[in-house]
Amino acid sequence: MARYTGPVCRLCRRDGQKLFLKGPKCFSDKCPVEKRNFPPGQHGQSKKVKKVVGYGLQLREKQKAKRIYFTLESQFRAYYEKAANKTGVTGDLLLQQLETRLDNVCYRLGFALSRRQARQVVRHGHVQVNGRKVNIPSFQCKVGDEVAIRQGSKELVLLQVAKDFASGQNRVTWIDAQPDNLTGKIVSLPKREEIHLPVNEQQIVELYSK
Ligand code: SF4
Repeated sequence: MARYTGPVCRLCRRDGQKLFLKGPKCFSDKCPVEKRNFPPGQHGQSKKVKKVVGYGLQLREKQKAKRIYFTLESQFRAYYEKAANKTGVTGDLLLQQLETRLDNVCYRLGFALSRRQARQVVRHGHVQVNGRKVNIPSFQCKVGDEVAIRQGSKELVLLQVAKDFASGQNRVTWIDAQPDNLTGKIVSLPKREEIHLPVNEQQIVELYSK
C-alpha cells in the first residue's frame, strides 16, 4: 500500500491518544484528541468503545509505531526481521532501528517540527552525514556519525522555526546536539528508557512472531 498522505490527526483519534505527528499543534489546545476524543468518521461519536485485547491490541500497537515513524508495512516488517535475527531484546532492537533512521535523527536534532517534515528535509537534500549529502530518510545512522544541515541550506526559514520549537523540548541524551551549528553527533545507541513513545513493543513482537 502506498504511503498515507491524508490528515494525520485522524490517526491519533483512531487510537484515542496523541501520537505527536504534527509538531506544535500537538502541544496546544487545538489538538483534536483534546477537543474530539472519539474515533473519526460519520459514526465515530455514536460508536461504542470496545476494550481491545489479543490480536486487536497487537495490531493497534504495530499501527501506532508504523504511523509515528511514517514507515510502510514491508519496511516495518523488515525492521522486525532484522531485530529478531540479532542477539538481544527484539522489541528494544526494533525501536532502536526506528530511532536511528536519518529522518528521526533529524527530528530529534530539531531540524524539523515533525518526523514527516524531517523526512522532507532529508528528501530535499538539505542533510549531510559525515560531510556527505544523504537524501534517504531510512538511512541507518551509527554511533559516531555526524549529522548536519548542509551549508547552503542553513538559512531556510523552516529550520529557524523548527530550531525555536526544539529549544522548548527535551533533548535526547544519545545525540550530542549543537543547535547553533545545526549539527549533532550520535554518541550511543538509544536505550528503551530514552525512547519516550506511547507504544508497547512487546505486543508488536508477539504479533509478528506468530
Ligand atoms: Fe495527534 Fe498532534 Fe493531531 Fe493532536 S495535533 S491529533 S497529537 S497529530
